[in-house]
Amino acid sequence: MQFRDLQKQYEVLKPRMDEAMISVAASSKYIGGPQVKELEDRLAKYVGVKHCIACANGTDALQLALMAWGVGPGDAVFVPDFTFFSTGEVVSAIGATPVFYDVCADTFNADADSLEKAILAVKEEGKLIPKAVTDVDLFGLPADHGAIEAVAKKYGLYMLEDAAQGFGGAYHGKRNGAFGDMATTSFFPAKPLGCYGDGGAVFTNDDDTAALIRSLCVHGKGTMKYDNVRIGMNSRLDTIQAAILLVKMDAFESYELDDVNEVARWYNEALAGMDVILPTVPERWLSSWAQYTIRLKDASKRDAVQAALKAKGIPTMVYYPKPMHTQLAFAGNRVYVDCPVTDELCATVLSLPMHPYMDARTVETVAAALREALTE
Ligand SMILES: *Cc1c(COP(=O)(O)O)cnc(C)c1O
Repeated sequence: MQFRDLQKQYEVLKPRMDEAMISVAASSKYIGGPQVKELEDRLAKYVGVKHCIACANGTDALQLALMAWGVGPGDAVFVPDFTFFSTGEVVSAIGATPVFYDVCADTFNADADSLEKAILAVKEEGKLIPKAVTDVDLFGLPADHGAIEAVAKKYGLYMLEDAAQGFGGAYHGKRNGAFGDMATTSFFPAKPLGCYGDGGAVFTNDDDTAALIRSLCVHGKGTMKYDNVRIGMNSRLDTIQAAILLVKMDAFESYELDDVNEVARWYNEALAGMDVILPTVPERWLSSWAQYTIRLKDASKRDAVQAALKAKGIPTMVYYPKPMHTQLAFAGNRVYVDCPVTDELCATVLSLPMHPYMDARTVETVAAALREALTE
C-alpha cells in the first residue's frame, strides 16, 4: 500500500502526461515557456485572485512574499507552532525573527487568541517590531482565516496565507490561496496539486506586489534580466513542471478533489467509534485532504500502533513530531507564548494513507488493522 499513490495517478494520466512532457522537450523552451503563463492564468482564476506568480518551490514562495514586504532584521513574523519547518525557516533566512503561536486542537490550525497573546508579548517587550502573520492551511483544511485576518488588521500586520498543503480547499466559499495580503502554495509531488519535482506559486490581488514578486524571483530584474534593480533570487517554475501541472489541474478540478473528500468520508465512517479522535471539518469549510490525520487518545500507544500497521504493509506518518519552538534551528529564539496544544498534537497525531485514487476496500483494510492495533 502507498501512503500517497503517485504511481497510480501517473498511470491514469499517462497518455496526456507523456505528450505534455515530450512537447516541452521538443520545444526547447525550458524556461519561461508558454505553459508557465497558461498555468498562472488558470490557477489565478481557480483560486479567485488577480495574480499568480509561479516560482521554484513553496519555500521560496513564502520567502518572496516576506521579501516583497521588506521584512528583515528586527521584525517579528508570527508563525503557527504546528507546521512544516519552511513556514518558520524563511523568516529566519531573511534575518527576521519567527515568533511561534499555538493552534486549535480540533482543526490543527492557527489559534487567533494565542496569536494575539504573542503579539502583545512582543509589543510589551519592545525589542522586535511586529510585521506579519502567517497562517497555514494544515493538512488541506483552511485555517480560520477570518479570525486570523481580524487580529492581523487590529495590529496593522501583513497577513500571509501558507496554502502549501491547502490548494483546492475553501473557507466560506472562497478558495485557499485567496486569503490575506498574499498567499503561497507548493507543488511538491505529495501536495494536493503536485508536479514531478519542485514548484510553487505566490497569489495576490495587488498589481504592484505582483510586479515586485516577478522582479524578485528573477534576480531582482528591472526592465529586463540584465537590468538588476534589487537583490532577488533565482526562483522560476520550469516549463516542464508547468506543463505537468496543467494536465494534473484537469484531473484535480474534474474529479480528484471530490474523490479525496469521498475517501475522507469512508475513513470517517470506518473509524467511527474507535478510540481515536477523527479530523474535523467545520461547517462551510472544505478540505483538500493533503493528509488524513487522526489523534490517539493514548500517546504512549503511537509507536506500537505504527509498528503494527507497518507489519501489515500499511504506511503511516507522524506530521509533525516536534513543535517549531523546540527545533534546534530556532534554539536561540525567545519563546513568547506557551503552545500546549501543539505539544499535545505532536505527541498524539498519526497520518494515515490518503490520496484521491484510494478505493473503499483499502480504507477498510486500514481501518481493520487500526482497530486491531488499538486493542492489542
Ligand atoms: C511543503 C510545505 C512548504 C514548503 O514547500 P516546498 O515546495 O517543499 O518548498 C511550506 N509550508 C508548508 C506548510 C508545507 O507543507
